[in-house]
Amino acid sequence: MRDREEAVNYLSELLGVEEWKVREALKRGTIRRVKLSFPDFEYYRLVRDFGGYERGTLVVPEHDLVVRGFPKIERALLLEPALRTRFGDGGRVVVEEKMNGHNVRLFEVEGEVYAATRGGLICPYTTHRVRELCGEELRSFLEDHPDTVVCAEFVGRENPYVSKEYPEAPDVGLFVFDVRDLDGRFWSFEEKRAVDEYGLERVRCFGEFSVEEAVEEVPRIIRELDREGREGVVIKDPGREKPPLKYTTHSAHVEELEWAFTFAFDLGRDFVLTRTIREGFQSFEWEEDEEELERRAADVGRAIVEGLRRALERMRDGGGAVEEVPLTFASMRWYRRYEEFVKHVTGGTHTLEIVSEDDDGRVKAVLKKRYVRTEDKVKSIFEEGVL
Ligand code: ATP
Ligand code: MG
Repeated sequence: MRDREEAVNYLSELLGVEEWKVREALKRGTIRRVKLSFPDFEYYRLVRDFGGYERGTLVVPEHDLVVRGFPKIERALLLEPALRTRFGDGGRVVVEEKMNGHNVRLFEVEGEVYAATRGGLICPYTTHRVRELCGEELRSFLEDHPDTVVCAEFVGRENPYVSKEYPEAPDVGLFVFDVRDLDGRFWSFEEKRAVDEYGLERVRCFGEFSVEEAVEEVPRIIRELDREGREGVVIKDPGREKPPLKYTTHSAHVEELEWAFTFAFDLGRDFVLTRTIREGFQSFEWEEDEEELERRAADVGRAIVEGLRRALERMRDGGGAVEEVPLTFASMRWYRRYEEFVKHVTGGTHTLEIVSEDDDGRVKAVLKKRYVRTEDKVKSIFEEGVL
């Protein structure tokens, strides 16, 4: 787009939203233009819901493409009433595993696959790792189904946004959980199984149940996932018309609390309220006895105190409030592209460092994510003892 008025006209027409609203949204930063060295086209993203489009919606003017943002999934705190009111007595549900990585929407522009983050940014790191993992499979699926977007969880230890190891994806992995038409319609469970034929992996499905069965089955599945240290489930209408629900495990809550309290002054407040509330409702609904309650309480308490205590020890020994994530790049070129992206997105609080360069051109690196508030507060408390 040559200038802002041209962008206003174009976006207004493409999104079907009045010009003055688009103009205002651009001015306020609700719609933002992105032009980095990768991709080689400019795009616009919505940082909030706007004009009937979800946050994270991405517009590529050169290709008249609108990729809608992935909608928020509501959380069940009490399974039984949530299942009954959402899906109705006598209704049916599909229970899928909720994997813990980051949400990517995969789409095609001129024969190439791109990966958009939840916020509507095209991430060079995710894009190139996905292309390596299953670029051909995705391309052939998207070629046969041109007006669709594949929604998937990008997981693994080498995930810059949520670094968590999965036995089935030690470094990185991609698991499809939805397919969506560009007009916003989600494919039914039966329809989306088509991705299997292309060699794409889907998240695990625990089966289809009646609501009555699900009330019994989901807690059983959750307990099993809990023992394996996995995150939880997403419960979906088989026709994918009613919006889904998510429900998570005790071990996921505990793990997140411990991590959040490593960066207590940045994340502690938000995490402690949300996760303890989930724990309280889960213990209540499962009618836990004293012994079970004791164990749950000890896990939660320990995660909070120990998370902070270990972080303080590391900082006393000279470390910062920094999370380090190992990343591998296919080449120096991709490394540079991601370096630029990280700088653009974080303004410099996150930095990349090269660890080694292999003979085949692959670059091992580490992403350092600094939690500035925690670092400053803890430093000052170390010196003066008061907050
Ligand atoms: P939300 O705004 O949807 O609540 P959030 O950032 O709080 O998102 P989560 O609590 O992780 O995210 O839950 C929703 C996310 O779960 C989805 O955006 C998606 O990335 C992820 N996910 C993992 N497995 C599935 C699945 N089987 N079906 C749908 N989403 C899944
Ligand atoms: Mg998640």
